[in-house]
Amino acid sequence: MSLYPLFARPRTVQQAAQVLESMSSGVVVIAGGQELMPHVNHGVLQPEVYVDINALADLKGIREDDGLVSIGALTVHRDTFSDPLVAEKLPLLVEAMKLIGGGRQVHNRATMGGNIVAMHPLYDVVPVLLTLEAQVEVVRGAETRRTSLKELMADPRHGLGSEAILIRVLVAPMAADAGFAYEKLKSSGGAYGSANAAVALTVADGVIASLRLVIGAVADRLVDASEALAFCIGQSWSDALASKVEHCCAGLIDQPLSDHQGDGEWRKAMAGVVAQRAMGRAVARAVAQEGR
Ligand SMILES: Cc1cc2nc3c(=O)[nH]c(=O)nc-3n(C[C@H](O)[C@H](O)[C@H](O)COP(=O)(O)OP(=O)(O)OC[C@H]3O[C@@H](n4cnc5c(N)ncnc54)[C@H](O)[C@@H]3O)c2cc1C
Repeated sequence: MSLYPLFARPRTVQQAAQVLESMSSGVVVIAGGQELMPHVNHGVLQPEVYVDINALADLKGIREDDGLVSIGALTVHRDTFSDPLVAEKLPLLVEAMKLIGGGRQVHNRATMGGNIVAMHPLYDVVPVLLTLEAQVEVVRGAETRRTSLKELMADPRHGLGSEAILIRVLVAPMAADAGFAYEKLKSSGGAYGSANAAVALTVADGVIASLRLVIGAVADRLVDASEALAFCIGQSWSDALASKVEHCCAGLIDQPLSDHQGDGEWRKAMAGVVAQRAMGRAVARAVAQEGR
């Protein structure tokens, strides 16, 4: 181990991938540094080599690509939630990202890629991306691979941040008549949610026709409740259905988080509450669209 950490600033994705491939350990990718540097400052992490990817122009910006919205991994939060294409095609993402805490520093420095790779259960972006069934592009050595975010998150050997680089996230546009909502239950002043829910659904002839709902911040993993909520399809929204949704979603949380933001039993109950609130708002939006 050298006395001081080394710092690499590659100019191309290929160079960055080569640096990562040539190191067996102690190497870490740095993007906005908002997650990484507090760990370094507290001595939790002591990287030997930093690979600063901020000069990789290909990883910045938002564009349409083959009918999908492509968001580069280095795009900072403010540029994502204020982008007109994202506002038009992915309004659920905008609603959630505007609730990200940490103020201007985080909005102007933290990146889409850093948020995804951190895989933090309290963060707000990934629940939305899972709800919208996003795909991601990853470079490892000479190989570029596109995979679903869900698959990536389930793979403990993804190596992101030390062996592989997340290049961009790709999301299919939401249906123009979709109902959507992001609920974030926060303790006063705190940045992170104690329970979050993202939902996207459609309504046809007054009944729910399709539904995806992901719950965050209540367990160490995000919980995709979409299949469990299949009983909602073909139903119109009512108090009775809301209470069935609440009960079902709370029941999905078998190992709730317990911390200063709330104990486990309360978090479990709140998972149900945010899910039914999000669904109620999403259905109301979809019904309003249908009535136009
Ligand atoms: C005070 C504060 C409040 C916050 N509040 C919220 C909140 O309410 N909701 C929320 O969602 N988030 C919140 N965040 C987190 C923030 O949104 C970012 O997710 C976080 O800072 C990581 O992004 P970054 O660009 O800073 O990543 P970095 O700190 O640079 O990196 C984070 C991790 O990702 C890896 N990495 C980064 N980019 C890539 C890439 N392209 N390929 C491979 N690996 C990569 C790094 O190696 C590291 O392991 C908060 C952060 C702070 C500091």
